[in-house]
Amino acid sequence: MTGFDATRKLFHLPEGMIYLDGNSLGPLPLAAEARVREVLAREWGDQLIKAWNTADWISLPARVGDRIGRLIGAPAGSVATGDTLSVKVFQALAAALAMRPGRKVVLSDTGNFPSDLYIADGLIKALGGGLELRLVAPEAVADAIDESVAVILITEVDYRTGRRHDMKALTAQAHEAGAIAVWDLAHSAGAVPVDLTAANADFAIGCTYKYLNGGPGAPAFIYVAPRFAETARPILSGWMGHEAPFAFDLDYRPHRSVERMRVGTPPVLALAVLDAALDAWDGVDMADVRAASIRLSERFIAEVEARCPDLELASPRDPAMRGSQVSFRHPQGYAIMQALIANHVIGDFRAPDLVRFGFTPLYLSEDEVVAAATMVERVMTQRLWDDPAYATRSKVT
Ligand SMILES: *Cc1c(COP(=O)(O)O)cnc(C)c1O
Repeated sequence: MTGFDATRKLFHLPEGMIYLDGNSLGPLPLAAEARVREVLAREWGDQLIKAWNTADWISLPARVGDRIGRLIGAPAGSVATGDTLSVKVFQALAAALAMRPGRKVVLSDTGNFPSDLYIADGLIKALGGGLELRLVAPEAVADAIDESVAVILITEVDYRTGRRHDMKALTAQAHEAGAIAVWDLAHSAGAVPVDLTAANADFAIGCTYKYLNGGPGAPAFIYVAPRFAETARPILSGWMGHEAPFAFDLDYRPHRSVERMRVGTPPVLALAVLDAALDAWDGVDMADVRAASIRLSERFIAEVEARCPDLELASPRDPAMRGSQVSFRHPQGYAIMQALIANHVIGDFRAPDLVRFGFTPLYLSEDEVVAAATMVERVMTQRLWDDPAYATRSKVT
């Protein structure tokens, strides 16, 4: 029915579990196990250090970057991988700020993910010089772009509500005002069609353990618009971003491409898992994913609202205005989610009061979405959440 029967078979999906948290951590791609076993045994095991050349580990980050690039409208050779998203935020923002030396404002919004804001704050404090992080409501970003702004640092899809910014319009507006646009695609890559080239974005960053199913702590990515590939300043000037790492020069000379955003030795095992995970996207059209995602999320909202009047939709009602996740608000949100998880419907909770569900057509069916809504109804009408066991918060919510 979804047209994704073939991709569903590519994942390990535990029997009896309805997984609505692929927006936080995608499931295990079956191909990953074999790939890692091969890298461990045949590459690391048998070839040891030779594998940097014989298995071409050294260009694995770039090969994986190109595969991600296809999903986000980035041309070959414009995406580097490695490190974590927080590190990539730091690099992109630092490079963007270096391009606008006279300006003092980094503009972001209160819907942004805290790590992006913490990183921006830390970088601004380190750089000094009167820089300022200006936060406005997500709806107020457009009006806040003026000629004091050096960089807009915006996450396209809000991690809590799924609210989606208009990347193309805000980028155009930033450029009009002379600012640089940095886009965080954490909840966009693999969730919605992204076209960085058409949007004329300057920098983009994202993680790969969410919709791209790269596994816990999978390497992040960074896109640098080709027009800046030879000028963007790498603040973390590690040897792997050097033009010739094995020349062992005493002076740093950045690579003449996005590879300058590499820092240190790439995480080969993690990249191998991610590479295998990206197989699931081969031949997949993001427009089809988007159409299916909207169908699933619309069905879920309709079913939940018809059954559970106490849950208030926190996501935009218009599917065009949201990414691939839906949140509902309830004062007992944490306990509600714990009760759902105990009944094998997995979503997550985001403070202070949101129960959040992600929709991932690659491996999620409409029948599961309806079954999940039925369980939400049971948890609400039978007050299954009202159990002291669900009141104590775990470290990870
Ligand atoms: C998930 C997420 C992060 C997490 O950053 P890590 O460095 O990978 O832990 C950062 N920013 C946004 C917008 C996110 O959604």
